[in-house]
Amino acid sequence: MRWVAPSIRVRLTGWYSLVLFLMLAVYASATYLAVRHEFFEQLEDQLHDDFESAEGFLVPTADGHIAWATERHHDPDEDEDRGIDVWAADGQPIYRSGASAALPPVALPAATAAPRYESLTAHARQWRTLTGTTLVGGRSVVMRVSRSEDRLRAQVGEILVVLALGLPLVVALAAVGGYLLARRALTPIDHLAKEARRITADRLHERLSILNPNDEIGRLTAVINDTYARLEASFEQLRRFTADASHELRTPLTVIRGIGEVSLKDTRTAAEYQDGIGSMLEEVDRLTNLVDTLLRLSYGDAGTVRLTPEPIDLAALAREVTASLAILAEEQDQRLEVDASEPVEATVDRLVLREALTNVVDNAIKYSPKGSAIHIRVSADGDRAVLAVIDEGPGIAVEHRGRIFDRFFRIDEGRSRDRGGTGLGLAIARWAVEVNGGRISVESAASGGSTFRITLPRSPRKGENV
Ligand code: ADP
Repeated sequence: MRWVAPSIRVRLTGWYSLVLFLMLAVYASATYLAVRHEFFEQLEDQLHDDFESAEGFLVPTADGHIAWATERHHDPDEDEDRGIDVWAADGQPIYRSGASAALPPVALPAATAAPRYESLTAHARQWRTLTGTTLVGGRSVVMRVSRSEDRLRAQVGEILVVLALGLPLVVALAAVGGYLLARRALTPIDHLAKEARRITADRLHERLSILNPNDEIGRLTAVINDTYARLEASFEQLRRFTADASHELRTPLTVIRGIGEVSLKDTRTAAEYQDGIGSMLEEVDRLTNLVDTLLRLSYGDAGTVRLTPEPIDLAALAREVTASLAILAEEQDQRLEVDASEPVEATVDRLVLREALTNVVDNAIKYSPKGSAIHIRVSADGDRAVLAVIDEGPGIAVEHRGRIFDRFFRIDEGRSRDRGGTGLGLAIARWAVEVNGGRISVESAASGGSTFRITLPRSPRKGENV
């Protein structure tokens, strides 16, 4: 059978109980040892008192001996748990109480020896004793006072039982309390999971309810809600993109179908068929171009495009682009000029940036009137390198400026399409600039003319700190 990890509340309770058990066990052991030590110390104090009071019962007799003055003391024989034994210096017993008679005789200490405590066992009873010497009427005697440890051991044993039985009981109670507490603390998570399960792909606009925005669960919920918002935005973008792409792909397909249908309707001359096939191929080229661009964008989105950044001279790149587009500008009698007073370098992927610049300059040619001028200005601005494409076209109205970099956005669809536009040129340009660590923006004067500005991190020139 596979082991299934228990729920957080069970694990929490388990750990909590274990730690509590260990802490209480250490605490209980320390308490037990301290109490036991204290009890035994008290017993020794009592023995010491017994020793001192017993000295008062020893009296010298007229015949030069020492006697036990029983009449001055209650009979210790009555006391089962206490004993007194006294020996003369030669080992002759002077007095032995009933309770301690079973204890072995004492090994006589030297007269100067310090009093000593020891534990003895007799008839399965344990005794604590204090043995010492004392002088009575100038004679040395050895005295041993003893007390049974039975009662004390019984008391200590009771304490041990209470501690040993109480410990599991306390831990069990704490575990129940801990479990209830953990359940209460984790209930909002169950609630959250239940709510989150409700939000499927087609209900992404819904959000989780936040009971308390200041606690941990509230903050977690806010993060999950943010994720839903981002997911929703991405879904929406994807949905729009798919709809736009399908629309764009359908137009050339409809045209191809239309040409085919018209061609098949009547018998045509070979030249007419050739014409029809030529038009179809033009639309196929358009389709191929669109699909290639879409693919490039999707690679860009997936981040699978591998860049090879290298320091490049932006003025040289601008000249290269104008040379490749010169033929298009010539057709419109437009002047394409590169203004670069100083060499400016940026570390970028050459081909990707070239594509961005080509798209922007191509737009300037497409949308500017015949006979106008287009300038590409290369300059440095602190640690930034700037490429500005300035045209004398119709300009871009303020309300469109924020959207012209969006995929498939066209201000005038018919005009763009007539000029071979797909509505993706600036979207690609923005991706190509941003992937190189730059930014692209547009400015337009009310009188017309647009300036597309590409700003890139500038490479430091030799010996220069940028
Ligand atoms: P398109 O393929 O239509 O050119 P783009 O993404 O390149 O698509 O451009 C989006 C729209 O921005 C164009 O349809 C056009 O209306 C407008 N636009 C782009 N560049 C210029 C420009 N230099 N002058 C005026 N309008 C422009």
